[in-house]
Amino acid sequence: MSLTVGILGGGQLARMMVLAGAPLGLRFELYDPAADACSGPLAPLTVAAFDDRKALAEFAAKVDVVTFDFENVPADSAQWLADQVPVYPPPSALAVAQDRLSEKTLFQQLGIPLPAFADIRSRDELAAKATEFGLPCILKTRRLGYDGKGQFRLRSEADIDAAWDALGAQVERTGLILEGFVAFQREVSVVAVRGRDGSFRAWPVTGNWHVDGVLSASVAPAVLADAEHEAAIGYARRVAEHLGYVGVFALELFCRDGELLANEMAPRVHNSGHWTIEGSETSQFENHLRAVLGLPLGSTRMLGHACMLNWLGAMPDPAPVLGQASGHWHDYGKQPRDGRKVGHATLRDDDADALADALLQVGLELDRQDQVAPAVHALRNR
Ligand code: AMP
Repeated sequence: MSLTVGILGGGQLARMMVLAGAPLGLRFELYDPAADACSGPLAPLTVAAFDDRKALAEFAAKVDVVTFDFENVPADSAQWLADQVPVYPPPSALAVAQDRLSEKTLFQQLGIPLPAFADIRSRDELAAKATEFGLPCILKTRRLGYDGKGQFRLRSEADIDAAWDALGAQVERTGLILEGFVAFQREVSVVAVRGRDGSFRAWPVTGNWHVDGVLSASVAPAVLADAEHEAAIGYARRVAEHLGYVGVFALELFCRDGELLANEMAPRVHNSGHWTIEGSETSQFENHLRAVLGLPLGSTRMLGHACMLNWLGAMPDPAPVLGQASGHWHDYGKQPRDGRKVGHATLRDDDADALADALLQVGLELDRQDQVAPAVHALRNR
């Protein structure tokens, strides 16, 4: 296939898309404001700002279709590009997913359960809504937040001033939203794909564990009752169909006492779907490319059980993972930096207990017992 896919954003998600596209014979053009974007070594990279219309026009002229590895590309740049070249997912879907308030309003319209939420424009509104929702609750920026950034957890009335001091200045730039706190037992995500022809497929629901708002580990399939599993996938389908979505996306949900509550959607391939590279018939990266190119979607059937571990800050020693029969290593080639996602590992096994044993071993050898513990617990208690 002598087609060229343009990707706005050149991070690890773009890098894994390029790797998945190579066997399909695809070519790539990447676009990122950072000259050291980690997908740069794999394909030609345009280094320019996301609102640089001249650079965007030159980029559009080189590609057959444009997609994203980053959801905060200005939606008007995406819309402007869409007048020149097909852009998937549709910029209108990107615009909804970029704003927590529009996203949550959409979930509500579609009858998807979710925590209490309110648009917040002043300190007084914050105080009133915090009292109405009850404490704890979470103040978040509506736009431009990710991985737990731009959030303040209010635990007592005394925190209202502190939360306003921390985020009040953002009210004009990003907007603010207050959310009721969900005392969930589990966090899960649906990673799903919708084709240009409306075909829809979802991978088995994934269980996720976050540390300081950042994904630490994922296990698939998640431990969920069949009805919850079906409900989660049904919600994802409802959102995708409403938005006329094309490509892969993730819907993150809290699971509390058997009830699922939607948190947010990511309009792109997702960290909680990295296990699909080795753990399913077709990876999220390949299916995203198939979707945006209008090709038939691949099966999302998974093979056994899989666990993904994120590496933050710096890469650990690869030997303990590579020493496992089912261990797979992904080094994004990034410079180490505190909290930065620099790579991940996936371990897979047909047998949940054997996978738990392998994870325990890796945790011990890397001195990361805390990181593997929740995944081991989930695999042992299926
Ligand atoms: P987010 O950026 O909204 O995905 O938030 C990052 C993480 O913070 C989530 O994965 C949860 O672990 C936690 N979190 C966010 N919103 C809530 C909420 N309303 N209730 C409880 N925990 C939350």
